[in-house]
Amino acid sequence: MKLILLGGPGAGKGTQAQKLAEKYNIPQISTGDMLRQAVKDETEMGKKAKTFMDQGKLVPDEVVIGIVKDRLTKDDVKKGFILDGFPRTVEQAEALDKITDDMGIAIDAVVNIATSPEVIIERLSGRRSCRDCQKVYHVVYSPPKEEGVCDVCGGELYQRDDDKPETVKKRLDVYNEQTAPLIDYYKDKGKMVEVSGDNSIDEVYEDIVEALS
Ligand code: AMP
Repeated sequence: MKLILLGGPGAGKGTQAQKLAEKYNIPQISTGDMLRQAVKDETEMGKKAKTFMDQGKLVPDEVVIGIVKDRLTKDDVKKGFILDGFPRTVEQAEALDKITDDMGIAIDAVVNIATSPEVIIERLSGRRSCRDCQKVYHVVYSPPKEEGVCDVCGGELYQRDDDKPETVKKRLDVYNEQTAPLIDYYKDKGKMVEVSGDNSIDEVYEDIVEALS
């Protein structure tokens, strides 16, 4: 199973990718998580990426394409993978086509999680993430057992800088301008399945699994 999850900020890509990765026993490849790890590790790439991320902008294509290309050389992707947050521009999608062609593999399906702007704002303002294992919570809809502490690894939960209201607006604009065109890109390839992201986590998950089967 080789999947791409598409959707705006707050659509629930990361949450659904975690669940699907568990179900199909394949890795979740999240460019956002990999970039945040690089920021945390203060690598050269992380320092450069941070300036874009903090402003709600996309990190330059060549950087992100390089990260994904590298990740797809690892052994664990042989059984399949879920791309979460990549591609985000047509240039990235074209680069991915080339990478998969060179590997002799093909993406099986692209799932678009379509979510309304009001839901997105509510979700992002309540989102909390684990600093250590990146698991995602929501203060109202999926709170941890103990406030501020990750259920899985005991790590500290924090609000991402780019989930603050002023940056969310910018991310939505960036999504509409640069990422939304990918919906037609993949529709034209006949690989697109669409689900509503406005429902509960479990409902969206069931809709995705049904659409994929
Ligand atoms: P995410 O966790 O997917 O919401 O990503 C958080 C931030 O990381 C985005 O707002 C971008 O700044 C950056 N980022 C993640 N994935 C990509 C990508 N495929 N292309 C460019 N920037 C990305």
